[in-house]
Amino acid sequence: MISMETIFPALYILAAAGFILAIKWMNSPVTARRGVIVGEIGMLLAVVGTLLRHEVVNYEWILIAFFIGSAIGVPIAYIMPMTAVPQRTAFSHACGALASALIGTAEYYRQTPHGFVMGALIVETLLGFLTFTASLMAFGKLQESLPTRPITYRGQNIVNLSIFGLAVAIGIFLIFVPEQKWLYPIFMVLALVFGVLLIIPIGGADMPTVIALLNSYAGLSASAMGFALDNKLLIVAGALDGSSGFILSVIMCRAMNRSFSNVLFGAFGTVQTAKKEAVQRPVRSASPEDAAEILDAARSVVIIPGYGMAVAQAQHKLRELHDVLDRRGVEVRFGIHPVAGRMPGHMNVLLAEADVPYDRLFEMDDINPEFPRTDVALVIGANDVVNPAARNDKTSPIAGMPILNASEARTVMVIKRSMSPGFAGIDNELYYMDKTLMLFGDAKSFVANIIKELNALVPVGAH
Ligand code: NDP
Repeated sequence: MISMETIFPALYILAAAGFILAIKWMNSPVTARRGVIVGEIGMLLAVVGTLLRHEVVNYEWILIAFFIGSAIGVPIAYIMPMTAVPQRTAFSHACGALASALIGTAEYYRQTPHGFVMGALIVETLLGFLTFTASLMAFGKLQESLPTRPITYRGQNIVNLSIFGLAVAIGIFLIFVPEQKWLYPIFMVLALVFGVLLIIPIGGADMPTVIALLNSYAGLSASAMGFALDNKLLIVAGALDGSSGFILSVIMCRAMNRSFSNVLFGAFGTVQTAKKEAVQRPVRSASPEDAAEILDAARSVVIIPGYGMAVAQAQHKLRELHDVLDRRGVEVRFGIHPVAGRMPGHMNVLLAEADVPYDRLFEMDDINPEFPRTDVALVIGANDVVNPAARNDKTSPIAGMPILNASEARTVMVIKRSMSPGFAGIDNELYYMDKTLMLFGDAKSFVANIIKELNALVPVGAH
């Protein structure tokens, strides 16, 4: 006989398997879509499994929450541009963390648990509350509704650590004496305040890395909630979330050459200030027609997309350019930097949307040795990720960041609108090299014009 008692574990095991497979498949653009779908199915099974539990006695409130949540979530998913995904992620972390913290609080006041369960509950609420305010702050900085520069003052670390230490001390005390309920609101306020203080000294520039870390905290909070509520699926899902967020933040730190301990303990302190070039230095610029001729004469081209490609939404035009050049016998590859754009995998997502063949996408370490044999490096809306200062200038804010070696190609062409700096706010030596041609304009319309010029050239085979 199939009873409810056998259905729950089966649904939960299937959901957990779905989450694990989702993470595995999201590792590569080829299988990423499958990963998203299996993750969604896993979440559906988890929700159904939970709603069938006998502890759920009333569906009305759940339905109301479901409709309110959907009314907010669905439009956000449609309206939010891809470039705003980092702040959207920060906002969802804030909501998830608050939910986790509130459930923990409700359980505490309802049951006054003791021992291990109380310990799990304290971890859950501490991480939940601090992640809530920290994520809201991160959202504000990324959306630029809060000042993005780091705010530091003397003794900041001591103040922050004291507040955190006090929250932890009260938490530990409550584990042993949970009946002292008057202490709980103090514990809660300290955790909320610490979340704000944690983000204040960190500049907007480092926010995406911090968000990956907050993702990890929210996951750990959910995992602790699983222990507090004896829900094994929450433990698994939270642990997966916690560890993947942590690994992602480590990868991002490496790709930007930032110290991981700085992110962990906040207080970066340093600001990436924009150095305004006092003297205008000459550059060589070219027209779409010149660019088309150079590309047509090339045997191998590496396209390097960056944030500007995302802003201009030029991915479909890039796909067209790839197809036109491919038909004309030019080998076209895409060089993808791990932190090009404003979120991990940003370029992969956009190029996949435009159906650029996956075997044409090359990661930094695979494409870098190819540049000396490349005729044209076509940089489209990328700046920091091709800036030789990362290698040559030890004082640069991006010193030590691994870059795509576009400067080693025989000819470099750069599509961007002006000489403005990129994210790190610094000048780029690549633009002033003799082999570099600046193609000034919006990425999408400039690429469209190159395609037009290529199509106007002598047809393929008639050379
Ligand atoms: P950058 O921000 O360095 O440069 C983007 C360039 O695009 C600008 O110089 C801008 O120049 C140009 N641009 C903007 N709009 C357009 C447009 N419509 N058409 C053409 N060009 C345009 O981008 P990169 O991708 O090279 O580097 C990413 C940076 O972001 C790195 O510093 C990285 O550390 C940072 N970062 C990345 C994260 C990630 O996870 N991917 C997370 C956090 C930070 P102009 O105004 O002249 O057009």
